[in-house]
Amino acid sequence: MSPMPQPIISFEDVHFSYETESVLGGITLAVEQGEFFALLGPNGSGKTTLLKLALGLMRPDGGEVRLFDTAMAKFRAWERIGYVPQRAEGMDNRFPGTVAEIVAQGEHSGFQPLAFMKRSLTPAVVDALHTVGMWHARGELIGNLSRGQQQRVLVARALVRPRDLLVLDEPTSGIDQGGQQNFYSLLQDLNRERGMTVFLISHDVGVVLEQASHVACISHTLVFHGAAEHLTEDHLLQLYGTPVSLLAHRHE
Ligand code: ADP
Repeated sequence: MSPMPQPIISFEDVHFSYETESVLGGITLAVEQGEFFALLGPNGSGKTTLLKLALGLMRPDGGEVRLFDTAMAKFRAWERIGYVPQRAEGMDNRFPGTVAEIVAQGEHSGFQPLAFMKRSLTPAVVDALHTVGMWHARGELIGNLSRGQQQRVLVARALVRPRDLLVLDEPTSGIDQGGQQNFYSLLQDLNRERGMTVFLISHDVGVVLEQASHVACISHTLVFHGAAEHLTEDHLLQLYGTPVSLLAHRHE
Protein backbone atom coordinates (compact mmCIF):
# COMPACT_ATOMS: atom_id res chain seq x y z
CA MET A 1 0.00 0.00 0.00
CA SER A 2 1.30 3.43 -0.83
CA PRO A 3 1.21 5.98 2.01
CA MET A 4 -1.68 8.46 2.18
CA PRO A 5 -0.93 11.49 0.08
CA GLN A 6 -0.18 14.61 2.05
CA PRO A 7 -1.00 18.15 0.96
CA ILE A 8 2.17 19.94 -0.07
CA ILE A 9 0.48 23.24 -0.83
CA SER A 10 -3.09 24.17 -0.01
CA PHE A 11 -5.11 27.27 -0.77
CA GLU A 12 -8.32 27.84 1.15
CA ASP A 13 -10.66 30.51 -0.24
CA VAL A 14 -7.71 32.71 -1.24
CA HIS A 15 -8.34 36.27 -2.43
CA PHE A 16 -5.79 38.77 -3.67
CA SER A 17 -5.86 42.26 -5.21
CA TYR A 18 -3.12 44.58 -6.43
CA GLU A 19 -4.44 47.88 -5.08
CA THR A 20 -7.87 48.05 -6.71
CA GLU A 21 -7.45 45.25 -9.30
CA SER A 22 -8.85 41.98 -7.99
CA VAL A 23 -6.60 39.24 -9.41
CA LEU A 24 -7.61 36.11 -7.50
CA GLY A 25 -10.96 35.29 -5.96
CA GLY A 26 -12.02 32.33 -3.87
CA ILE A 27 -9.24 29.91 -4.89
CA THR A 28 -9.49 26.61 -3.02
CA LEU A 29 -7.26 23.73 -4.06
CA ALA A 30 -4.53 21.44 -2.78
CA VAL A 31 -1.46 19.93 -4.41
CA GLU A 32 -0.80 16.49 -2.97
CA GLN A 33 2.50 14.74 -2.46
CA GLY A 34 3.79 12.98 -5.57
CA GLU A 35 1.69 14.93 -8.05
CA PHE A 36 2.97 16.45 -11.24
CA PHE A 37 0.74 19.46 -10.86
CA ALA A 38 0.23 22.13 -13.53
CA LEU A 39 -1.35 25.51 -13.08
CA LEU A 40 -2.84 26.44 -16.46
CA GLY A 41 -4.32 29.77 -17.54
CA PRO A 42 -3.96 32.51 -20.12
CA ASN A 43 -1.48 35.34 -19.66
CA GLY A 44 -2.62 37.70 -16.93
CA SER A 45 -4.93 35.14 -15.31
CA GLY A 46 -3.15 35.25 -11.95
CA LYS A 47 -0.81 32.22 -12.12
CA THR A 48 2.36 33.97 -11.01
CA THR A 49 0.41 35.80 -8.33
CA LEU A 50 -0.84 32.47 -6.96
CA LEU A 51 2.71 31.13 -7.02
CA LYS A 52 3.98 34.15 -5.08
CA LEU A 53 1.29 33.54 -2.48
CA ALA A 54 2.31 29.86 -2.33
CA LEU A 55 5.93 30.82 -1.69
CA GLY A 56 5.07 33.37 0.97
CA LEU A 57 6.35 36.30 -1.11
CA MET A 58 3.00 38.03 -0.68
CA ARG A 59 0.10 37.54 1.69
CA PRO A 60 -3.47 36.91 0.59
CA ASP A 61 -6.10 39.54 1.39
CA GLY A 62 -8.37 36.73 2.50
CA GLY A 63 -8.18 32.99 3.00
CA GLU A 64 -5.25 30.80 3.96
CA VAL A 65 -2.18 29.29 2.29
CA ARG A 66 -0.47 26.28 3.88
CA LEU A 67 2.84 24.63 2.95
CA PHE A 68 3.52 21.04 4.02
CA ASP A 69 0.43 21.28 6.22
CA THR A 70 1.82 24.27 8.11
CA ALA A 71 0.31 27.75 8.15
CA MET A 72 2.46 30.09 6.04
CA ALA A 73 3.28 32.34 8.99
CA LYS A 74 4.83 29.39 10.84
CA PHE A 75 6.52 27.70 7.89
CA ARG A 76 10.32 27.64 8.08
CA ALA A 77 11.41 24.60 6.05
CA TRP A 78 12.18 26.54 2.87
CA GLU A 79 15.03 24.15 2.05
CA ARG A 80 12.39 21.56 1.12
CA ILE A 81 11.43 23.66 -1.91
CA GLY A 82 13.51 24.09 -5.06
CA TYR A 83 12.66 26.93 -7.43
CA VAL A 84 13.50 27.09 -11.15
CA PRO A 85 13.04 30.53 -12.72
CA GLN A 86 11.78 31.21 -16.24
CA ARG A 87 15.23 31.75 -17.61
CA ALA A 88 18.86 32.14 -16.64
CA GLU A 89 18.49 35.90 -16.19
CA GLY A 90 21.56 37.88 -17.15
CA MET A 91 23.57 34.77 -18.03
CA ASP A 92 24.48 35.71 -21.57
CA ASN A 93 27.79 34.80 -23.19
CA ARG A 94 29.64 37.50 -21.21
CA PHE A 95 28.63 35.96 -17.88
CA PRO A 96 31.80 34.53 -16.29
CA GLY A 97 30.30 31.53 -14.43
CA THR A 98 30.74 27.93 -15.51
CA VAL A 99 28.01 25.32 -15.36
CA ALA A 100 29.52 23.75 -12.23
CA GLU A 101 29.80 27.14 -10.55
CA ILE A 102 26.15 28.00 -11.23
CA VAL A 103 25.03 24.64 -9.85
CA ALA A 104 27.23 25.16 -6.76
CA GLN A 105 25.29 28.36 -5.97
CA GLY A 106 22.51 26.04 -4.84
CA GLU A 107 24.62 25.01 -1.85
CA HIS A 108 24.73 28.50 -0.39
CA SER A 109 21.74 30.12 1.18
CA GLY A 110 21.32 33.86 1.39
CA PHE A 111 23.13 36.42 -0.71
CA GLN A 112 26.72 35.35 -1.36
CA PRO A 113 27.81 37.01 -4.57
CA LEU A 114 31.28 35.50 -4.46
CA ALA A 115 30.15 32.03 -3.43
CA PHE A 116 30.83 30.71 -6.90
CA MET A 117 34.51 31.41 -6.44
CA LYS A 118 34.66 28.66 -3.80
CA ARG A 119 35.37 25.03 -4.62
CA SER A 120 32.44 24.01 -6.76
CA LEU A 121 32.67 20.27 -7.42
CA THR A 122 31.34 18.97 -4.12
CA PRO A 123 29.69 15.52 -4.16
CA ALA A 124 26.22 17.14 -4.18
CA VAL A 125 27.12 19.25 -7.22
CA VAL A 126 28.56 16.23 -9.04
CA ASP A 127 25.39 14.28 -8.29
CA ALA A 128 23.08 17.11 -9.45
CA LEU A 129 25.05 17.53 -12.69
CA HIS A 130 24.70 13.81 -13.43
CA THR A 131 21.00 13.87 -12.57
CA VAL A 132 20.24 16.50 -15.20
CA GLY A 133 22.65 15.03 -17.75
CA MET A 134 25.01 18.03 -17.77
CA TRP A 135 28.15 16.52 -16.26
CA HIS A 136 29.90 16.64 -19.62
CA ALA A 137 29.34 20.42 -19.77
CA ARG A 138 30.51 21.21 -16.22
CA GLY A 139 33.42 23.40 -17.32
CA GLU A 140 31.59 25.36 -20.01
CA LEU A 141 30.44 28.94 -19.58
CA ILE A 142 26.71 28.95 -18.91
CA GLY A 143 26.16 31.68 -21.49
CA ASN A 144 27.44 29.42 -24.27
CA LEU A 145 24.74 26.77 -23.74
CA SER A 146 21.36 26.51 -25.46
CA ARG A 147 18.32 27.74 -23.52
CA GLY A 148 17.19 24.16 -22.94
CA GLN A 149 20.58 23.22 -21.50
CA GLN A 150 20.61 26.35 -19.33
CA GLN A 151 17.25 25.33 -17.86
CA ARG A 152 18.68 21.90 -16.98
CA VAL A 153 21.51 23.64 -15.17
CA LEU A 154 18.99 25.71 -13.19
CA VAL A 155 17.18 22.50 -12.23
CA ALA A 156 20.51 21.06 -11.08
CA ARG A 157 21.11 24.19 -8.98
CA ALA A 158 17.70 23.69 -7.37
CA LEU A 159 18.49 20.02 -6.67
CA VAL A 160 21.87 20.43 -4.99
CA ARG A 161 20.04 20.19 -1.70
CA PRO A 162 17.46 17.43 -1.24
CA ARG A 163 13.99 18.77 -2.12
CA ASP A 164 10.44 17.57 -1.72
CA LEU A 165 8.89 20.11 -4.07
CA LEU A 166 10.16 21.59 -7.30
CA VAL A 167 8.44 24.79 -8.48
CA LEU A 168 8.82 26.00 -12.08
CA ASP A 169 7.28 29.10 -13.68
CA GLU A 170 7.04 28.74 -17.49
CA PRO A 171 10.47 27.08 -17.63
CA THR A 172 10.47 26.29 -21.35
CA SER A 173 9.24 29.46 -23.04
CA GLY A 174 11.45 30.11 -26.04
CA ILE A 175 12.95 26.61 -26.07
CA ASP A 176 12.59 24.55 -29.25
CA GLN A 177 10.42 21.42 -29.38
CA GLY A 178 13.27 18.94 -28.94
CA GLY A 179 14.73 20.89 -26.03
CA GLN A 180 11.28 21.00 -24.40
CA GLN A 181 10.85 17.24 -24.73
CA ASN A 182 14.22 16.63 -23.10
CA PHE A 183 13.46 19.06 -20.33
CA TYR A 184 10.08 17.54 -19.51
CA SER A 185 11.42 14.01 -19.55
CA LEU A 186 13.91 15.15 -16.89
CA LEU A 187 11.00 16.47 -14.79
CA GLN A 188 9.11 13.20 -15.31
CA ASP A 189 12.10 11.23 -14.03
CA LEU A 190 12.39 13.44 -10.96
CA ASN A 191 8.68 13.06 -10.30
CA ARG A 192 8.40 9.30 -10.90
CA GLU A 193 11.75 8.00 -9.78
CA ARG A 194 12.55 10.38 -6.94
CA GLY A 195 8.96 10.99 -5.84
CA MET A 196 9.45 14.71 -6.12
CA THR A 197 6.27 16.77 -6.26
CA VAL A 198 6.30 19.14 -9.24
CA PHE A 199 4.39 22.44 -9.38
CA LEU A 200 4.56 23.78 -12.93
CA ILE A 201 3.08 27.03 -14.21
CA SER A 202 2.24 26.98 -17.90
CA HIS A 203 -0.01 28.64 -20.44
CA ASP A 204 0.62 25.80 -22.91
CA VAL A 205 -2.29 23.34 -23.11
CA GLY A 206 -0.21 20.76 -25.01
CA VAL A 207 2.57 20.72 -22.41
CA VAL A 208 0.10 20.45 -19.54
CA LEU A 209 -1.91 17.62 -21.09
CA GLU A 210 1.21 15.68 -21.93
CA GLN A 211 3.07 16.13 -18.66
CA ALA A 212 0.77 16.76 -15.74
CA SER A 213 -1.04 14.24 -13.57
CA HIS A 214 -3.19 16.98 -12.03
CA VAL A 215 -4.28 20.35 -13.36
CA ALA A 216 -5.80 23.52 -11.98
CA CYS A 217 -7.13 26.05 -14.49
CA ILE A 218 -7.49 29.60 -13.32
CA SER A 219 -8.78 32.74 -14.87
CA HIS A 220 -8.85 34.86 -11.69
CA THR A 221 -11.17 32.23 -10.24
CA LEU A 222 -10.83 28.46 -10.34
CA VAL A 223 -12.31 27.00 -13.55
CA PHE A 224 -11.18 23.39 -13.06
CA HIS A 225 -9.14 21.30 -10.67
CA GLY A 226 -8.63 17.57 -10.94
CA ALA A 227 -6.87 14.77 -12.76
CA ALA A 228 -5.53 15.88 -16.14
CA GLU A 229 -7.69 13.38 -18.02
CA HIS A 230 -10.84 15.02 -16.65
CA LEU A 231 -10.09 18.36 -18.27
CA THR A 232 -12.67 19.05 -21.01
CA GLU A 233 -13.03 21.42 -23.94
CA ASP A 234 -15.74 23.24 -21.98
CA HIS A 235 -13.19 24.07 -19.30
CA LEU A 236 -10.79 25.37 -21.95
CA LEU A 237 -13.56 27.44 -23.54
CA GLN A 238 -14.25 29.03 -20.15
CA LEU A 239 -10.55 29.60 -19.69
CA TYR A 240 -9.60 31.07 -23.05
CA GLY A 241 -12.95 32.36 -24.33
CA THR A 242 -12.42 30.52 -27.65
CA PRO A 243 -12.75 26.84 -28.57
CA VAL A 244 -9.55 24.83 -28.01
CA SER A 245 -9.37 21.29 -29.40
CA LEU A 246 -8.22 18.80 -26.78
CA LEU A 247 -7.74 16.16 -29.42
CA ALA A 248 -5.22 18.26 -31.31
CA HIS A 249 -3.21 18.79 -28.13
CA ARG A 250 -3.49 15.23 -26.84
CA HIS A 251 -2.00 13.95 -30.09
CA GLU A 252 0.78 16.47 -30.42
P1 ADP B 1 -0.03 35.28 -15.13
O1 ADP B 1 1.13 34.73 -14.36
O2 ADP B 1 -1.18 34.34 -15.25
O3 ADP B 1 0.36 35.84 -16.47
P2 ADP B 1 0.00 37.41 -13.14
O4 ADP B 1 -0.28 36.79 -11.83
O5 ADP B 1 1.40 37.76 -13.46
O6 ADP B 1 -0.65 36.51 -14.29
O7 ADP B 1 -0.85 38.75 -13.28
C1 ADP B 1 -2.26 38.80 -13.04
C2 ADP B 1 -2.75 40.24 -13.15
O8 ADP B 1 -2.17 41.01 -12.12
C3 ADP B 1 -2.37 40.92 -14.45
O9 ADP B 1 -3.45 41.74 -14.85
C4 ADP B 1 -1.18 41.77 -14.08
O10 ADP B 1 -1.13 42.92 -14.87
C5 ADP B 1 -1.47 42.12 -12.64
N1 ADP B 1 -0.23 42.30 -11.87
C6 ADP B 1 0.76 41.38 -11.75
N2 ADP B 1 1.75 41.83 -10.95
C7 ADP B 1 1.37 43.08 -10.56
C8 ADP B 1 1.96 44.09 -9.72
N3 ADP B 1 3.13 43.87 -9.12
N4 ADP B 1 1.28 45.25 -9.55
C9 ADP B 1 0.08 45.46 -10.14
N5 ADP B 1 -0.53 44.55 -10.93
C10 ADP B 1 0.09 43.38 -11.15
